Amino acid sequence: MKIKVDFDLCESNALCEAMAPEVFELDDDDFLVVKAEETTPETLEDVKRAVAACPRAAIKLED
Ligand code: SF4
Repeated sequence: MKIKVDFDLCESNALCEAMAPEVFELDDDDFLVVKAEETTPETLEDVKRAVAACPRAAIKLED
């Protein structure tokens, strides 16, 4: 699935990085970097946890 982040909503609190560090990472300036455009079978469950954890509802998964 495609991973979409609304950077206008993101408040850089790193909760998604805690759930799926293989996909989400805050850089040195606390800007969220999304390291993959799509999930893989290995990352899908972690990314779903990141979606659920984001308090700003900034992450979406699309077909
Ligand atoms: S959990 Fe949401 S608000 Fe926090 S860094 Fe990730 S996308 Fe941004």
